[in-house]
Amino acid sequence: MLEQRIPEKRGAAFEIAAGDTFEVTDPEGQQVADLVAFNAENPSERFSTKYSYRRNNKVRVSTGDTLYTTEGREILTITEDDCGVHDLLYAPCNEWVLDDYYDQPDQNGCRENLSEALAPLGVDEDLVLNTLNVFMKSTIAEQTYIDIREPPSEPGDTVQFQAEQDSYVAVSSCAGESVVNAGETNPIDIRVPDGTDIHTNF
Ligand SMILES: [Zn+2]
Repeated sequence: MLEQRIPEKRGAAFEIAAGDTFEVTDPEGQQVADLVAFNAENPSERFSTKYSYRRNNKVRVSTGDTLYTTEGREILTITEDDCGVHDLLYAPCNEWVLDDYYDQPDQNGCRENLSEALAPLGVDEDLVLNTLNVFMKSTIAEQTYIDIREPPSEPGDTVQFQAEQDSYVAVSSCAGESVVNAGETNPIDIRVPDGTDIHTNF
């Protein structure tokens, strides 16, 4: 496997063949990684949080669960999971989220970092919206209100995914200097099959 460190507040993208696996690791603990996935033949078919809720009948996923596309087809399955806590409720942070909620004006958020990393693969930035927020902890109170808590991931916690179709995948190290990353941002490591071209914005 080829290992790549994504520095804090940056993104990386790669193509992965159906049946192959890749891993996302939080090397220092309590750092969220936003993840998107696209059909490599037709990126307008892409991972959908809402159709993943529909197929799984739940809003949280872990080992054995599959993520689905806008066409309702399988795209990634979680095959190993050291942490077990990931968020499907929140959209990725972006420039206005960082400014409005975290007092971080004029900075790239995950949405921009994912889009920049995906640009060489021809994925339009408008298609980058639905993320699996790996290691992110969200809560639902009174069956209505959602809130963000500190990630419970410990140093070295890893999630392994298997591609269910030829896919483009991008991962960002979340840029929020807030509770979402327990107050400070850190790197994320990915491991992909040997020979994979990794596109980055760093
Ligand atoms: Zn983020």
